[in-house]
Formats: sequence, C-alpha cells, structure tokens
Amino acid sequence: MNAVKPEAVVVGGGFVGLHAAYRLHSLGLRVRVYTGGEIRRAASWGNAGIIHQGSITAVPEVMGLRKLLSLTLRRGSYVSIRPSFVFRELLPGGWLWRYVNEVKRGALAENAALLQQVLTESKRLWIEVIKELNLEADLNENGSIEVFTVQKNFEFESEFRSKESEELGYTVKTLRGDECRSLVPELSREVVGGLLYPDDVHINPSKTITSFIRALRGMGVEVLEDRVTLTHSDGSVTAADSEGRMTPDHLIVCSGAWTRELMRSVGIDLPVVAGRGYLAVTEAIRERFGRPIIYADNRVIIGQTASGEVRLTSVFELASPDAEPDTSKFERIRGWASEALPLVRGLKFVDTWVGPRPCTPDGAPIVGTIRGLRNVVIATGGCRLGATLSSSMGLMVAEVVSGKERALVSRLSPERFRS
Ligand SMILES: Cc1cc2nc3c(=O)[nH]c(=O)nc-3n(C[C@H](O)[C@H](O)[C@H](O)COP(=O)(O)OP(=O)(O)OC[C@H]3O[C@@H](n4cnc5c(N)ncnc54)[C@H](O)[C@@H]3O)c2cc1C
Repeated sequence: MNAVKPEAVVVGGGFVGLHAAYRLHSLGLRVRVYTGGEIRRAASWGNAGIIHQGSITAVPEVMGLRKLLSLTLRRGSYVSIRPSFVFRELLPGGWLWRYVNEVKRGALAENAALLQQVLTESKRLWIEVIKELNLEADLNENGSIEVFTVQKNFEFESEFRSKESEELGYTVKTLRGDECRSLVPELSREVVGGLLYPDDVHINPSKTITSFIRALRGMGVEVLEDRVTLTHSDGSVTAADSEGRMTPDHLIVCSGAWTRELMRSVGIDLPVVAGRGYLAVTEAIRERFGRPIIYADNRVIIGQTASGEVRLTSVFELASPDAEPDTSKFERIRGWASEALPLVRGLKFVDTWVGPRPCTPDGAPIVGTIRGLRNVVIATGGCRLGATLSSSMGLMVAEVVSGKERALVSRLSPERFRS
C-alpha cells in the first residue's frame, strides 16, 4: 500500500464513488479511490447521461407482475433474463424472489415517491460539482423528450404521468406528434405524441467521469486503478490491493453491481444485481437533436454528444455483471431506435459497450452503515437512475461519516435486507 495512509478509502470509481470522494475530501479527510480497473468498466461510463427530474416510476412495474413477465418472455424485448440468473435468483431469498414480493406489496411505487424528494437536490448538486470542479461534462439544460409511436402507450403514459406529476410535484408537458417534430424535425411521421420533461439535464457521461477523476487528482485525492479484496476481523474490514493491506477509518463501498460479490467476502449478502444496459455510439452527424430522445415503446434513449455522435442506449438484461455481451443486441437497438428516428438506420457504429446498473429488489438505493462492521459505509443500488442520484448519494455518505445522517437514510439502510 502507498506510504501516506488515507483516512477514507472509496471502493469504486463510478459516479457514486467519485461524488463520495469529493464530499469526503471537502470534510478535510485524506481520501483514496480504487476504480477496480479501467474506467469503462463502470456503469457510469456509458449510461444515457440524463439527470432526470420527471418520474422515477418505471411503468412496467406499476402495471404489475403480469406485464413484467410478458415483457421478459416476449422475443426481442428490451427486458431479458439469462437462464443461469433465473435458476440462481428465483429461490427463496434470491433477488427475483425478493423482487416479486416487493412488487406485490407495492414497495417499488412507494420508494419511487420517496426518491422523488431527492431528484431536485441531485440536479442542484450535479450542477454545483460541474461548475466548482470545472468538469468537461457537455452540460445541456434543454430537458428531454419521450416519444411514442403506439397510440395506446401514449394515452396510457400521458394520463399516468400527468396525474403522477401533480401528486409528486414535477413538470411534464404532453405534446402532439407535430409538436414533437417541431422540437426534433428528424423524428419519424409515425411519432403520435410525446412528453416533454423541461427540467431534465443531460451530460456526456464518458467525458464527465474522465474529467471528474482528473479534477479529484488535481485536488489531492488519490485515484488508483487497482481492484481491492476485503477481509473482516474484530468488527472492522481490511482492504487489500496489489501492494498490501490497510484498515481505514472509513471504508466506503460504492462498487456498483459488484457490491454483492465484494461484501459476501466479509459475510454480508446484499441483494444488488446487474441490470445490464447496452450502448452503441455512431459516427458524428450534422443534425443536432438539441436534447435526449427517449423512445418509450422500445425503451431506447437516443442521446448526442456535443461533437455530433449519436448514442443509443437500451436493454435491461439481468445477468452477471461480467457476463459476455450478446452482441446481436446492438443491431436490435438500432432497429428499435430507427422506428422513431429513421436517420440512425444508415449510421456506422464507432464504439459499443455493455455496463451493469446496480439494482436492488425494492427499487431504492442502499446508503448506510452495516451493523457489526465499525468502519464500513455502503452506497450503491441507484439502478436506472443511479447517475442522477449519485450526487445526493455521495453527499449522504459524507453526512453518515460526519454523524449527520439525514432521516431518509434510515429508509435506505442496508439493514432492511438483513432481517
Ligand atoms: C445503458 C445505461 C443507461 C443508463 N442511463 C441512465 C440515465 O440516463 N440516467 C441515470 O440517472 N442513470 C442511468 N443509468 C444508470 C447509471 O449508469 C448507474 O446506476 C450508475 O452509473 C451507477 O453508478 P455506481 O457508481 O453505483 O456504479 P458504477 O458506475 O458501476 O461503478 C462501480 C465501480 O466499482 C468498481 N469496482 C467493483 N469492484 C471493485 C473492487 N473489488 N475494487 C475496486 N473497485 C471495484 C468498478 O470497477 C466501478 O468503477 C444507466 C445505466 C446504463 C447501463
């Protein structure tokens, strides 16, 4: 291990780990971050980059288990489950078993309402960090637009969202098909309507994460690419890297979809699995969409970098975080996206990527300490909105470390999965 002993060790170089490191450094602690390998490994690297201010509720979950099951079983659907995952996780206590029970008792909708309270703070903190650290984030504050080509989906979701937005206090505007095309002229004639989320902001996640690491290093935070292992004795957890071992005062575990595997090595089983997403980046084009487009019927998000490359993200695949990707899915995503935005049909892919959203069975992230482990704080499980929530989760970590835990943390505690 390096000569100067850090007071806080952050395991994970995704957005949660980096925000936590920034806040811990601001408390005056000596901080070291382990990224566990090259930064492309993190889900934070290739996500769609929407800091979402609209609904946090996933419609298929609200529609119940039957809808979810039919989505999963439909050939070519954006939701898929690897067979090995089903066998492992459907047993009592497994992730799928827990998930089915949480959906039945309404926990996902309840937690979505709870997290809604954090979204405004998350956006404010993101913008603050981007400005304070002068990050190259390509911040775009034009909102995002969700579009539909299937009339009944549009009707269902616009009614659901307008009711929900009144209850939960976010802004959404319903648009006709021609109004969508006046915002994004490249949209297909098949688009029947859309929802505009004017308060959403968008970042280029790959640029942001690279620049975030650079800025932290510039402030004196150590960021190492090593992967750590954990051992446990006398109520403390020790981390080992390729050079040695240490027991820091604060060990912050922000290792995304790998958290379960890491924590099992110290006897703690947290139900965090990988809901893997796929990204295909195309060559740059002249047209500018101005804001990310969420094509709701096939759940593809079409973003664009400041230099014009189109980023297509989609798929929710329950599998091991490091399983081989199903490369046929990249062309499938292109096919889905082209229904709403025909120009993507002829574009060349210049990069492809797969990354694991860290997902809990009750839809809420995990932030807090573990009974019996003196020096550990966990922060993970942001799943589909983990990039958005990461700025608040990083702040919550610093609050826990400094003994000023907010009330919400009792609802996010890892202990809820341990009784
Ligand atoms: C396709 C796609 C689109 C998405 N779109 C959005 C979006 O638009 N908006 C949104 O809010 N969210 C989005 N998300 C979700 C979001 O990307 C994730 O929830 C979030 O990035 C998770 O951040 P994290 O820091 O918890 O985990 P990660 O970013 O996965 O980071 C985990 C880190 O832990 C490290 N690690 C693991 N094990 C070890 C070890 N033993 N030692 C050291 N380090 C270790 C990994 O290498 C990695 O650096 C999307 C995700 C995907 C895949």
